[in-house]
Amino acid sequence: MDAKHIKAVVISRRDITPELWIVRVQPEEKIAFQAGQYITVGLPGSSKLLERPYSVVSSPREPQIEFFLELVPHGELTPHLYAVPVGGEVFLRRAAKGRFVFDSQGGHRNHFLIATVTGVAPYVSMVREFAARAAEGETIPYQIAMLQAASVSSEFGYYDELTALAKAHASWLRYAATISRTWMDPEWKGELGRAEDVTRKYLDAYGFTAADTSVYVCGNPDMIQNVKGVLQRAGFPKESVKEEVYWVAEK
Ligand SMILES: Cc1cc2nc3c(=O)[nH]c(=O)nc-3n(C[C@H](O)[C@H](O)[C@H](O)COP(=O)(O)OP(=O)(O)OC[C@H]3O[C@@H](n4cnc5c(N)ncnc54)[C@H](O)[C@@H]3O)c2cc1C
Repeated sequence: MDAKHIKAVVISRRDITPELWIVRVQPEEKIAFQAGQYITVGLPGSSKLLERPYSVVSSPREPQIEFFLELVPHGELTPHLYAVPVGGEVFLRRAAKGRFVFDSQGGHRNHFLIATVTGVAPYVSMVREFAARAAEGETIPYQIAMLQAASVSSEFGYYDELTALAKAHASWLRYAATISRTWMDPEWKGELGRAEDVTRKYLDAYGFTAADTSVYVCGNPDMIQNVKGVLQRAGFPKESVKEEVYWVAEK
């Protein structure tokens, strides 16, 4: 073990679909991070650690670290991560990183958080943290609205938790979920379309304008590109839009 890494034991696992799972790991030492940041996770490869960054789902005040992971069948790391059982070990870099954190300095009251599937991870961390602060009696001085997009509703992962949080904290939190493969999910009663198809509709419905809103986009690179186009056409300045691109789009 070098100075950069620590071990963490997988203490629970919840399979969401055959390709999506949620894990909680117990690191051997506490890792300090801000909600929205990522931690680099690794497993021993043939000569060195095989590592990838993952946004942390848990809030900084939770004792364990939670991740929401997608299996990329042809990927280098995720098939091996997928195979780690409860009780198994992973390696974590000690230093959490990233600037995809809640912008409390920008002066905006409204914050619109857009994600595809696992891209909801940093937002869950943020809203768990705000909910904990609210439970301690703090007034949350923001309007936070989340829009999560997926192909089908089974991929949302945190639907029940986010729906319950939005209900319990209706004065500052909203959660909407939308699916694009409507024909594969005929029972779904929620929003229909891709994130970029409904972004404008939700901004307008909430009264979130280019002048008073910070927007965050996370996950699929094509979604991020398309949403940025929608926002640009709606007059959002670049400084009001934060992005966390999870992988490079194929040409
Ligand atoms: C800041 C940051 C935070 C991230 N947080 C998360 C997270 O919370 N959960 C999570 O599951 N992933 C997250 N990722 C993606 C993660 O780091 C890996 O890229 C992903 O797990 C694939 O790793 P791999 O080694 O299996 O595939 P690789 O061997 O690295 O990639 C194989 C190919 O698949 C593409 N690819 C990678 N991921 C996907 C995907 N999901 N869907 C389709 N194609 C893909 C790559 O561009 C590449 O072409 C994050 C990435 C970044 C940069």
